[in-house]
Amino acid sequence: AADKERAGNVAKIKVVVRKRPLNKKELAKNEEDIITIEQHSNSLTVHETKLKVDLTEYVEKHEFVFDAVLKEEVSNDEVYRETVEPIVPIIFQRTKATCFAYGQTGSGKTYTMKPLPLKASRDILRLMHHTYRNLGFQLFVSFFEIYGGKLFDLLNDRKKLLMREDGKQQVCIVGLQEFKVSDVDTIKELIERGNATRSTGTTGVNEESSRSHAILQLTVKRSADGNDSKPPKVVGKLSFIDLAGSERGADTTDNDKQTRMEGAEINKSLLALKECIRALDNDQGHIPFRGSKLTEVLRDSFVGDSRTVMISCISPNSGSCEHTLNTLRYADRVK
Ligand code: ADP
Ligand code: MG
Repeated sequence: AADKERAGNVAKIKVVVRKRPLNKKELAKNEEDIITIEQHSNSLTVHETKLKVDLTEYVEKHEFVFDAVLKEEVSNDEVYRETVEPIVPIIFQRTKATCFAYGQTGSGKTYTMKPLPLKASRDILRLMHHTYRNLGFQLFVSFFEIYGGKLFDLLNDRKKLLMREDGKQQVCIVGLQEFKVSDVDTIKELIERGNATRSTGTTGVNEESSRSHAILQLTVKRSADGNDSKPPKVVGKLSFIDLAGSERGADTTDNDKQTRMEGAEINKSLLALKECIRALDNDQGHIPFRGSKLTEVLRDSFVGDSRTVMISCISPNSGSCEHTLNTLRYADRVK
């Protein structure tokens, strides 16, 4: 019960918005920064320029409040402290936790997400080797991708994977490589290998990876009674999900059939994800995870005592106004 109480101190769902700085291209085009942030009140305002019927311009303000709103000068270390650090200890207490990065392509999802698993595993290993030493805890890493509704192992040459349910609310991805790790350097190497293996296609890295969800999982296991000769059982899991570009869900009218199908799958998965997180927050018995591959894969992270952190990444430039509003509205609905 004490464990549950401690786990209970961390909010079930936390929604954080991160704004990136204007980039060189946007500055060269003299694009304006249309986002103002008041960090002390966790509020953010989008200043949207609109046209009246007589074609004169006016500005419409849209204000949002979230659990935290991070300005462009906030570092990745601070992002870690605000989002994942508080949930690391609770995965030793039979809790599953998931951190998502949501937003349009180019808004900073990968920039935000990449360092988080490494920082988290550093803390997990520290707990394993000090606070919980000699208790038989072990750490495992896996990394895969959902692309067009199919699963690919990013730590095993993009081997295609199939998913199976064991009837006990556990998800099993058949053949997924899980690496047992006990030092930060090995984890770093695995994360780099996985990132290099993400879908790149022929059109360049960002273009193709923006159509896939990348899922990195840190799993803490323990052998019964700390007995190493027995197969270890899952204690807790921390998942990091670099979601497909949110604008890709609208690719449903593209000329290319493949692109249309991928767009439909992305749209379906982002909608299903929103519904699952909302159901979690309302403590509904029924979680609608059957809506998409993404939510099916995350099924065991949506049942029982779980924690979710959504990091919504936004671009500051006027040209991204519509996508930014869509991202903020999505984040608002999740709350
Ligand atoms: P996404 O994964 O959402 O498509 P990226 O993470 O690839 O976007 O970011 C797009 C570009 O912007 C990259 O060159 C990245 O280095 C840069 N960038 C993103 N966020 C920040 C930030 N907070 N500070 C500085 N540069 C950033
Ligand atoms: Mg990316």
